[in-house]
Amino acid sequence: MSQTRVIVVGGGLAGISAALTLADAGVTVTLLERRPHLGGLTTSIERDGFSFDNGQHVFLGCCSAYRDLLKRLGVSDKVYLQPRLDVPVLAPGGQRGSIRRSNLPAPFHLAASLARYRLLSVRERLGLLRPVLALSRMKLGDPALDDINFGDWLRQHGQTPRAIARLWNLIIQPTLNVSADHASLALAAQVFQVGFLRDAGGADMGWSTVPLAELHGEYGARALDASGVITHLNTAAHSITRVSDNSFAVDGDEENWSADAVIVATSARVAGTLGVVGPDVATELGTSPIVNIQFVFDRKVTDLVMAACVDSPIEFVFDRSDASGAHDGQCLVISLSAADAYIATGSSELLPLFLGALGDVFPLAREAQVLSAVVTREAAATFRAGPGVESLRTSITNPEPGVFVAGAWCDTGWPATMEGAVRSGCQAASQVLSLFSGSSSKGPLNRESVKS
Ligand SMILES: Cc1cc2nc3c(=O)[nH]c(=O)nc-3n(C[C@H](O)[C@H](O)[C@H](O)COP(=O)(O)OP(=O)(O)OC[C@H]3O[C@@H](n4cnc5c(N)ncnc54)[C@H](O)[C@@H]3O)c2cc1C
Repeated sequence: MSQTRVIVVGGGLAGISAALTLADAGVTVTLLERRPHLGGLTTSIERDGFSFDNGQHVFLGCCSAYRDLLKRLGVSDKVYLQPRLDVPVLAPGGQRGSIRRSNLPAPFHLAASLARYRLLSVRERLGLLRPVLALSRMKLGDPALDDINFGDWLRQHGQTPRAIARLWNLIIQPTLNVSADHASLALAAQVFQVGFLRDAGGADMGWSTVPLAELHGEYGARALDASGVITHLNTAAHSITRVSDNSFAVDGDEENWSADAVIVATSARVAGTLGVVGPDVATELGTSPIVNIQFVFDRKVTDLVMAACVDSPIEFVFDRSDASGAHDGQCLVISLSAADAYIATGSSELLPLFLGALGDVFPLAREAQVLSAVVTREAAATFRAGPGVESLRTSITNPEPGVFVAGAWCDTGWPATMEGAVRSGCQAASQVLSLFSGSSSKGPLNRESVKS
């Protein structure tokens, strides 16, 4: 395999995973990354002497491929994983609930917590059983589920607007980056079955305790280096040309490279411009924004490391003091998924709105001095996980013989997450390996844009 040369285009989590999988199998890998750093959509910025991630990233206990990548990068000790799912849910005025698992096996591990969930009426709590049972019985991968709107389905299963807002959306919005009313039932069912119903630890929440630029970017670069991958940063691939049956030329700004196979691990939009997927794929998949609002206070305003909020513009808030370097005070990050309402709003409007909202749930924030306040916006954080989206996602297998795609937007069955990105990269690498071990069939050339 060491004779085999593969180019990986894109150094996000999909590209890093693909490159490492190939290098571990003895393939000669060159990775091209357009930006000056690795990590793609998981990155960090420096401001006022603090380090802020472009967006709070959470993984779940069920994210096995991502957790394997953390092990491979040697950074498992740089993330925190809850020993047991425990999400305090706060409402302005001091009302409080929690979603916490017990030590019972799945699917009973959440029963006690939901039965005591004070933010819903007793009738609403009892009413949760029907959709939970129905979700647990669904056949994942059934294309019929993808045509159904999850919000409509919840209402048909007796869920009130309050139950959707105060419970279902707390789970679906951060995982799918759309609200229940805009979500595909297929992806919602995947989240509930894999995260919440199969394994008691499936939804335990985890996050990095260091900046993402360090966790994935710096440690990713070190692992790639150590495994012999040649990484070119500040290097965009502009075209991929087929030279012969199993030989490609990849052109950059000033250099070009030859390879026996290529993995394009970019966004769908870039994969479209490189001609490895149709030009309309990205437009059809759509985009969904995420906005994060970060405040550094001169003092501690809450003891909670994380909380969800209801009846508040805040969705989730995390204590990022250690990762940001705010050791003397407290750094709180408000994470807003499905942030269509905020993506175009100026910081001068967002900062006072969310500072006020923080004061409503953490009254000490009203007296604290703000040392730094930053809004980060990602307009195309994920594809739009609405009904019909699953049929639009590109298969990793074979857009073009010898050319593979990877990325969280590919057909992994997972939402656009770090887990999906890593899975796609590992799957694309496996496809390459089977191509060169002779077990993969070569289909006909079917796209003109990978030039012959
Ligand atoms: C604010 C925010 C919050 C999020 N929160 C979560 C979360 O809590 N949990 C979770 O699991 N997921 C979350 N996600 C989603 C997660 O970050 C992504 O799904 C994942 O990182 C995508 O990885 P990727 O490798 O598929 O793509 P990308 O990260 O987009 O990587 C693609 C790479 O290709 C490079 N590239 C593009 N064009 C070229 C070219 N021509 N030549 C060379 N290189 C090129 C890009 O610079 C980039 O580095 C969040 C995303 C955002 C933006």
